[in-house]
Amino acid sequence: MPPEAVPESFARVLDLATALWLGFIGACIGSFLNVVAYRMPRGMSVVWKPSHCPRCGHDIRARDNIPVLGWLILRGKCRDCGERISPRYAIVEAAMGAAFFVLAYAEVFTGAGNLPGQLTQRSGAWETVWNPDWALIQLYAYHGLLLSILMTLALIDQDRQRVPWSIIALATVAVAVCTLAWPYCHPERTRNIRVKQWKAPLDALFGAAWAASPWIVWAGVRWFRGQGDAFARGFNALAAGAIVGAFLGLRPAVRITVAWLMIAGITTLAMRKSQRRWSSLLTLWLLTLLHLVFWDEFAHLFSW
Ligand SMILES: [Zn+2]
Repeated sequence: MPPEAVPESFARVLDLATALWLGFIGACIGSFLNVVAYRMPRGMSVVWKPSHCPRCGHDIRARDNIPVLGWLILRGKCRDCGERISPRYAIVEAAMGAAFFVLAYAEVFTGAGNLPGQLTQRSGAWETVWNPDWALIQLYAYHGLLLSILMTLALIDQDRQRVPWSIIALATVAVAVCTLAWPYCHPERTRNIRVKQWKAPLDALFGAAWAASPWIVWAGVRWFRGQGDAFARGFNALAAGAIVGAFLGLRPAVRITVAWLMIAGITTLAMRKSQRRWSSLLTLWLLTLLHLVFWDEFAHLFSW
């Protein structure tokens, strides 16, 4: 039973306030991912040490640690020594905040209207968040986790570091648990059937295998020709593609990887002479967010 209705105008204000709050949580997660992406490949502890300036070593004060705003208040400089702080930190926080904000409207307040099939009759923040519809909130958290993991991989790849196995293990465990517990995490395969079955975990397996296959073929060809470093070079993309495939399933994986390969090819050509670097995993992050928001439309346009 949906909860008692509230006045329309109040419901809209509550939607906006809730989306801003979720967006703020997303920005805080983005702030944490910056730390993870910097420290993990360097073998540093992610949790125990507070953030500090890499030049003068002073801890970042709590009030300067607010996502996006902290960087703006400091105008991108360390308060103690004036060392430049890269805008990348603020951009990542803003991107994650925006993703959580947009997904709140697209997924939570529509009652998963962005997904194929139907999960719930509820809609609006009042009926879904403040009177929690747990299936919907699980879905939102599941997709938020995917975007968080993917952003971490993209930042690590942007720094030309190798993705650590621990993140891949975390993603694998998350997918295994979620697909077994909540089949509606793979709505295109299970059509939101709320019973336990093997369709969801199988779909995760097929999605991962599909997304990994072009890289395995490419690396295999290079290895066969004696260009043996291919597997190591493509490893980050392989891991990221497989994680997206596992989280979303085979059909989304096909749509996303085809678009990704095309766009990544064009970007590589366009940026051949540029000094700047744009990790193709950042493109994958954007495409994944786009697919989450317009999943149902894409499912109608490109399906089989
Ligand atoms: Zn400093």
